[in-house]
Amino acid sequence: MPELPEVETVRRGLEQHVAGRTIDEVEVLHPRAVRRHLAGPADFADALRGRELAVPRRRGKYLWLPVGDDALLAHLGMSGQLLVGEPDRPLSPHVRARFTFRDGGPDLRFTDQRTFGHVLVSAGGAELPPIIAHIAPDPLEAAFDRAAFATRLRAKRTGIKRALLDQSLVSGVGNIYADEALWRARLHWARPSDRMRAPDINRLLDAVLEVFTDALGVGGTSFDSLYVNVNGESGYFDRSLAVYGRAGEPCPRCGTPVRRDAFMNRSSYSCPACQPRPRNSRA
Ligand SMILES: [Zn+2]
Repeated sequence: MPELPEVETVRRGLEQHVAGRTIDEVEVLHPRAVRRHLAGPADFADALRGRELAVPRRRGKYLWLPVGDDALLAHLGMSGQLLVGEPDRPLSPHVRARFTFRDGGPDLRFTDQRTFGHVLVSAGGAELPPIIAHIAPDPLEAAFDRAAFATRLRAKRTGIKRALLDQSLVSGVGNIYADEALWRARLHWARPSDRMRAPDINRLLDAVLEVFTDALGVGGTSFDSLYVNVNGESGYFDRSLAVYGRAGEPCPRCGTPVRRDAFMNRSSYSCPACQPRPRNSRA
């Protein structure tokens, strides 16, 4: 599932290729792609036809392109892709919505194999779409407040990884980058959030920023090969993953085999030596 670095990579691609261009026509090829646009596919197309897309913005795993006061909002879900290319290229069977432009240049295609992603027009959503206003700022935003995060984190009686995945506390962090950041910060995923001390929290947030920055530098992680940038290219951060998906392989820091634990119907990967399980752990 795309996390912040992947969505930010897509955002940058859209900024380069579609910002400042005027939409000519919108074709919804599968109604499920616009299921969250409650007024339906025809209204979705009407709301965008003839309008200019501004510089795209992002919060966590959501990105939006302002159109006047409104916004074209996208969530990639598990397998959503926003692809830019020559308008006459073949239409893949997974294209769910297609946007052409008045300048006749490259079109934009929302492609989604598993159709968990969606696009919608958010009325008045140019600054921040109301539908995602409950999502906390992500660590790359100027609005992210470390002190406020620390206070709210300690008020939760949960494990630190569960807290990192809670989009109302901090957005953009998913399973892959949570495991990698916890490894970098030498913290076990089940550390009680209410016992976290300020230096631990700061070290963890530094690690989140560091792993996001490293991943952005190589275009994100294409772990299941469903994530690609707007040009259809994979990211290469999977080659730099220290623990995620590497059960039994040596920890890059100390050589101890990486351990996999069951976690929320998925997995948590950690180094048993660098990240010892605390006695008062909270799964
Ligand atoms: Zn280790």
